[in-house]
Amino acid sequence: MNIAIVGAGLAGRIVALNLLRTNQDITITFFDKGSKEGVGAAGFTAAGMLAPYAELETAESVIFDLGHRSIELWPDLLKEIGLFDGYQQKGTIITAHSQDMGELEHFIGILQRKVETAEKIKILDSIQIKDMEPDLYIHQKGFYIPDEGLIDAQRFIAFSVNYFNRYENIYFREYTPVKKIETGKVYTKEGVEVFDWVFDTRGLGAKEYFHDLRGVRGEVMWVEANDINISRPTRLMHPRYKIYIVPRGNGCEGIDLEYCSDCKLSQTIGYKRYIIGATEIESEDMSPISVRSSMELLSALYTVHPNFGEARVVHSETNCRPAFKDNLPRVENEKGLTRINGLYRHGYLLAPAIVEKALEEGFFK
Ligand SMILES: Cc1cc2nc3c(=O)[nH]c(=O)nc-3n(C[C@H](O)[C@H](O)[C@H](O)COP(=O)(O)OP(=O)(O)OC[C@H]3O[C@@H](n4cnc5c(N)ncnc54)[C@H](O)[C@@H]3O)c2cc1C
Repeated sequence: MNIAIVGAGLAGRIVALNLLRTNQDITITFFDKGSKEGVGAAGFTAAGMLAPYAELETAESVIFDLGHRSIELWPDLLKEIGLFDGYQQKGTIITAHSQDMGELEHFIGILQRKVETAEKIKILDSIQIKDMEPDLYIHQKGFYIPDEGLIDAQRFIAFSVNYFNRYENIYFREYTPVKKIETGKVYTKEGVEVFDWVFDTRGLGAKEYFHDLRGVRGEVMWVEANDINISRPTRLMHPRYKIYIVPRGNGCEGIDLEYCSDCKLSQTIGYKRYIIGATEIESEDMSPISVRSSMELLSALYTVHPNFGEARVVHSETNCRPAFKDNLPRVENEKGLTRINGLYRHGYLLAPAIVEKALEEGFFK
């Protein structure tokens, strides 16, 4: 069977991993407007948090249910591509400064009203916070969400390329923007190509078909610090900005791609990397991070631990999350064509479960 996957970002890669498992006699051709290294995909910018509870503040409970299913599916997907240390499920800590504690309690109240299992969220006093994360000692109170996880997003993208490269029946058509997709047909500037089944996973690039798709700008900063050790994703509630700090260890191990030569991340042992994010701005502007966003992210970071003042800013990145008006994912299936889109700010949280559902209702039916 001859299959095209248009968009080699997060969803497209997970579609391919699922199809390869079926042991069917298939050939997969990826089309992407960028390189197979995935650097332009939102999936490459993402922090990779799997935070079904935290998403509940603004999301529907369907996101929560799909998120839990994805959390079950991720470990096997990562093992398959050889990324054995790309997943952690140590839970999330949410904290706030004392003047903003009301905001945090309100947030937790919303979660507890939405799902019963939110009872598992624990209040932490300063001693319990210090026991779990000694470097968060300045915080008097916080909450711990036990089930939440974290994917090493950039290494997932890199390792999946290495994995696909091992298959003779997988082809990458890099730098090949697709103009239009129809049932079994892919249109590029060279003309039309015919396939048995086409998957449209172009994210924001599918606007020619989904007219109600929009981009939501997100900016992240990467910092390196040699004297702060935070092991879990940590959120800081604040009336103006809600930031997260996502630990990345010194984790570029195994990534050896073209973009690595420009990378300013130090390989010095003892330095820890953190992703600080993410802004959420109703705009499709992909230009570099603004001064305002940098100041807000970094000042919030500095208040989490004063030693972050001496951390080095090594990288920043902007991308847009593909979203529909209701911020819910959308799957369209017909014989010969599946479209998956609208993963918004929870692509890592949703993609394995949404792809599983899309394949069951379409390709495998
Ligand atoms: C700053 C930021 C932080 C995030 N953090 C998280 C997080 O912590 N947890 C979480 O769950 N989610 C997070 N996300 C969301 C997640 O990244 C997205 O939901 C997810 O990447 C969307 O997946 P996708 O495959 O639909 O799109 P993408 O990953 O963007 O992939 C789309 C692919 O299609 C290609 N393409 C586009 N148009 C065309 C065309 N015409 N022809 C050929 N190829 C094309 C692109 O080059 C790209 O490779 C974050 C997003 C951002 C921006």
